[in-house]
Order: sequence, then structure tokens, then C-alpha cells
Amino acid sequence: MKYIIVTGGVMSGLGKGITAASIGRILKNKGFNVTAIKIDPYINIDAGTMSPYQHGEVFVLKDGGEVDLDLGNYERFLDIELTRQHNITTGQVYQTVIEKERRGDYLGKTVQIIPHVTNEIKERIRKVSKKSGAEICIIEVGGTVGDIESMPFLEAVRQMHSEEKEEDIIFVHVTLVPLDTQGEQKTKPTQHSVKELRSLGLQPDAIVARCKEPVLPDTKSKIALFCDVPVSAVVSAHDASDIYYVPTLMEKEGLSDYLMKKLNITEKEISHFWETLIKKMASIDKEIRVAVVGKYAHLGDSYISINEALKHAGIECGCRVKADWLDAEEFERNPSDIDILRKYNGILVPGGFGVRGTEGKILAIRFARENNIPYLGLCLGMQLAVIEFARNVLGLTDANSSELAETQHPVIDILPEQENIRNMGGTMRLGNCEAVLVEGSLASKLYGGNTLIERHRHRYEVNPKYIKQIESKGMKFTGRNDHRMEIAEIPDHKFFFSSQFHPEFKSRPGKPSPPFLAFVKAAIQ
Ligand code: GLN
Repeated sequence: MKYIIVTGGVMSGLGKGITAASIGRILKNKGFNVTAIKIDPYINIDAGTMSPYQHGEVFVLKDGGEVDLDLGNYERFLDIELTRQHNITTGQVYQTVIEKERRGDYLGKTVQIIPHVTNEIKERIRKVSKKSGAEICIIEVGGTVGDIESMPFLEAVRQMHSEEKEEDIIFVHVTLVPLDTQGEQKTKPTQHSVKELRSLGLQPDAIVARCKEPVLPDTKSKIALFCDVPVSAVVSAHDASDIYYVPTLMEKEGLSDYLMKKLNITEKEISHFWETLIKKMASIDKEIRVAVVGKYAHLGDSYISINEALKHAGIECGCRVKADWLDAEEFERNPSDIDILRKYNGILVPGGFGVRGTEGKILAIRFARENNIPYLGLCLGMQLAVIEFARNVLGLTDANSSELAETQHPVIDILPEQENIRNMGGTMRLGNCEAVLVEGSLASKLYGGNTLIERHRHRYEVNPKYIKQIESKGMKFTGRNDHRMEIAEIPDHKFFFSSQFHPEFKSRPGKPSPPFLAFVKAAIQ
């Protein structure tokens, strides 16, 4: 197994995740089987309980793992499917160590960060990377070098460095090269963060320098000199107009050759997949606009996978999809503003929890339905579509979800066998589940068959009591998992498709998600 450890210096938000994913991609382009691990030094066990306000999107894996959004980047860049073990957090590590201590596994020893916590970290890294069957494992250490939280992890990888062969583990450090008021590229922050890294016993093999503009040869030489790496190992990672250009940019800097040399491996079989993809992307000259009516409208990071899925579908259609994120609560305050949706080629309502903004979203869905504007509803976006239909077509004016209000008509509810969930306020239906599709439906056309497997993250379901009544008026449940409704569509509409699952999590560059592709196609028309 070859390990590439990616650390970050100077500050957070430099795009370490994209760097890690891009390094993986350029090696995958050379024919290697690559996997990735994200280390998050927070005490949370996983990202499931974290607010999108703080940490961006919660990404959902096939096994139901609720993880950091960087795992979404890895899955998309590397076209792989990861498991929850690929996101290691401080919380998980300590939980295991404490459980072992209670069981007496440490045989009366004093349990300490070194060696017990660091051993647990190393064991996890080695086990996960081995199990993945990959040849190269990228390990991104979250946070910034010098943070108290990341110390045990950096110590663990330092130990790995002395335990593994020299050619089996290398370190890439991501830093910032800011410009001063004269526009000069400054290397001091990089020098300092490498010094910090060294004080922990780690020496970087390569430095990825994030900069607004291409890092100049002089700047590179200076960094090389001060940080003790060859100039060829200083990579300019300047701002790109799209994250998918980053691997190409790194390749141009000669990074894959350098890494392969360091790891003592030679390229296997060159893949042109990524090159073709970005050529296609660069040649796009059309644009459509879709409205995404959501709650965290101002936070791009909260819905990364949706933005990416729209992009994948757009690339396939040779059309840029410009998504305008509209705040649903604005429509609640000023319902007449809903008319601005008229100028959009499509309307999307994403997933969500809690009542805030839901009435605004319902207004948007009604507008899409009544004006024959393509509609894509995801999870809560399907539940609200069912509520809107029940209210305005069936005439059940107080129809609602029991998550959102007390109502005579809970068209969205917790299924009887899950009553315990209501009481415990706990578990969700998470990860891969199958749906059986109705023959001849839009769903079966999109997925090209009679079943699908997609990822889920929800508690509430369409209430089976209302299905007959709803279907008699023209909304059809064309995907089902037993008595759970997975898809609601309106066949008479130009394009009205909504799902209880989250298709955005499985969308990949070059392999767009079927509902997103169909939505974008309908929007283009
Ligand atoms: N809040 C809804 C539920 O729990 C929808 C969840 C979602 O959109 N991810 O069922």
C-alpha cells in the first residue's frame, strides 16, 4: 500500500479536499486504483448531527454513513464508492479506545494518547486502505497544522512514516501564497507552516501552493530553498474557474511524475477520461437558469452535491446550468414574488429538515406544477410536492407532514412500524435502498429498467392511507419499496419528478444522475 498524506497550513478553506481529490485523480489517470480517507479532528462521531451552517453539506454514503462533504469530492473525482470507515473522527477513535479500556483490553496499563490513541488511528488507516483493495490511499488530515485537535493524527502519521518503507509513504503540504499590496507573492506563511510541520517531526515531500495567480518561478525557488524540497515539488495551485480543472493544472506542473518517482511506481495504463471531460466542459457555450428554492440559500457548501449533479447533467447536454439559490422564506414574506420563478427554465426543491421555509417551497412547487415548468424534488422536495398536491388538487387544505405541523391530514407521516422513531427522535433511514419502478413510467424510462438503488436520508414517508386518493387525481407513485413511496411524478406535466431518495449523491462527472439529466434536458427544451 502506498500512502499519500495531505496536510494543510496557514488557514482552513484552502481547498485541501479538492487538492487531495485531484492528486488521487491524476494518479488514477495513470492507471492506479486509488482510494481516500478523510480525517476530521472533531469530537463528533460523524457529520450526521452537524449543522450545514457550520460544516456544509452532510454527504451520505451507500452504507448510510453521514460524512464530511470531502468524501463527496473523493467519490466524484475518483469515481468510487466509499464507506463510513473512510471518515475517521476524533470521536470514533476515542470511543473505541474507551470501550477497549472498559473491556480490560489494555491489561491494566495507563491508557495514553501515545501509544493507545495513535495506535488506534494507525490501525484504522491501515485496515480501511487495505480493505478497499486500492494501491494508493490518499489521507487528508483535516484542520490546520498546529491545531491542538489534529496533534494525535499528525503524530500517528509520523509514526507510520518510520514504520513504513521510505517509498511507501509521502507527505504533501497545502499552503497559501498571498499577494501583498504591491501584488508580490509572499512565501513567509508557507515557510512558517512548514516549520510548524517540521517541529512535529514531519517533512513535506511536495508543497501545493494555493495562490490567486500562477506561482512564479522565483517564488517556487524560494519555497523550495526554505522548505527543503526540490523546485519540481513546489506546485502552483492557482485559482481555477472550476474545480474539475485542478487535476489538469497539477498534471501540467508535473506532479504525478514527481509523486510516482517518490513512490517508486510507474504508470500503468493512461486514461483520457478526465481530459475528455474537461474539454467538453470548456467548449460549452449555452446556458440555462434553474431556481433552487431552499433554506441555506446563501451557503453554497450546504448543497455541493446538488450543484455538482446539475453540472454533470449540464456537461452531458453541452449546456451550463446556472443555479440561482433562492431563499424560500422570502416567498413566505412576499408571496407575490413567486412570479420571478417564471424566468427560470426549471425549479428544484432540495432536501431539508424542520418547518422553516417549507411554505415558501410549497408555493414554488405549486408555481412549477401550475405553469408547467420542469420540477425536480429531492426528499423533502418530494414530500412537499405531495403536500402541495393534496392541498391544491385534492382540496385537503390543511394537508401537511407530521414533522412540520399538527394536522387532520398527515399525508407525510411516520409509518406505524417506526412509531418508536417518533418517540426516540432518533434514527433515520440512511444509505442505499432499492425501489421497484412502474413499467412505462418516467422513472423506469430515466433509469432504463425496473429497479434502482439510490441513497436515502429521511425519517418521514408518504402516508399509505392517501395513496389511492392522490393517484386518482394524477400524481403517480412510480417507484416503491414495499409500502414506502420512493418516487412521485405527474405524467401530464412537462417534467415533474420527485424522489424520496437523494440522487445527487451518486452523480459523477461523465456519469450524470438520471433524474438530473432528464431535468436539465427538460429545462433546455
Ligand atoms: N425532513 C424530512 C424527513 O425526515 C426530509 C429529509 C430530507 O430531505 N433529507 O423525512
